[in-house]
Amino acid sequence: MARAEDSPVRIDTEAKILVKGITSVYHLKKNRTEQAREFIALKDINLEVRKGEFLVLVGPSGCGKSTLLDILAGLAVPTSGAVYIDGKIVTGPALDRGIVLQGYALFPWRTVRRNVEFGLEIKKVPKRDRTAISDHFINLVGLDGSAHRYPHELSGGMKQRVAIARALAYDPEVLLMDEPFAAVDAQTRENLQDELLRIWEATGKTIIFVTHSIEEAVFLGDRVAVLTPNPGTLREIVNIDLPRPRHNSDTRGSAEFGWIRRKIWELLQNSPSDVKRSLDKLKLQNASPDAKHHLNLLPVADIISPTASL
Ligand code: ADP
Ligand code: MG
Repeated sequence: MARAEDSPVRIDTEAKILVKGITSVYHLKKNRTEQAREFIALKDINLEVRKGEFLVLVGPSGCGKSTLLDILAGLAVPTSGAVYIDGKIVTGPALDRGIVLQGYALFPWRTVRRNVEFGLEIKKVPKRDRTAISDHFINLVGLDGSAHRYPHELSGGMKQRVAIARALAYDPEVLLMDEPFAAVDAQTRENLQDELLRIWEATGKTIIFVTHSIEEAVFLGDRVAVLTPNPGTLREIVNIDLPRPRHNSDTRGSAEFGWIRRKIWELLQNSPSDVKRSLDKLKLQNASPDAKHHLNLLPVADIISPTASL
């Protein structure tokens, strides 16, 4: 099997992020005497993400989402294949990528402000500039007034905002987020999703966002990459052509949203032919009598697109 080191250091690509043939194998041992067994967590993942895109990875627990994100972050090394950012191979973590992991991971001994300033300190940004920058991002995530507080004085949603502000503050071009909203209540989660979209629209960053919530994936993403487990493979990439800016009730309540959500759900459950059959049934239930006639002739790809002539 080829190793990551065998890959060229630079590659000619238009993509902001290029994931090329990533396979990740863990060696499992029940005890010290047993011979290690191979477990393929990811198998031949190929993906291109364009600059400024919001790409969501969705899949059930254990399908390799975190493994892939760790590889993108440079925190884990793939068994084969490589990740390129701006055509340059990723060999470790760097400040071009901001990381927001599940469970906040804030420094408990630092205030909100000093958590947000952490990356800036590493970048050796002078103190006065650090204060101005942290002020800006603390405001952006709606935490003005809490800059002096410590993590234990904050709610789960507030902690997650600090983690986002910290990742944004040192201005990485890429944001990698691993189920960042999984631990907060439903209402806070929707607020954070709205805020993240607002920040993304304001900053033009490239985001790779991991979730196991189909609803969250469809609401946020330009595209949703559907992963299936054992071994983790990329099943399909679904375009989310819902108009932007997206609003909670308008977007989530639309028929198109329902169709796309259903399509992804089917992709996670069933074989491609089952997906087509089920969507055929669904589109006929939802369509006007005139449209039903035409819909019979449309391929699945058109049915899930809100721009399809229904
Ligand atoms: P997800 O984030 O989609 O839930 P993970 O990337 O965490 O999935 O894990 C993918 C698979 O790899 C799971 O079956 C998990 O048990 C296994 N796995 C993850 N990390 C390790 C590890 N360090 N050693 C062995 N197996 C692991
Ligand atoms: Mg995970």
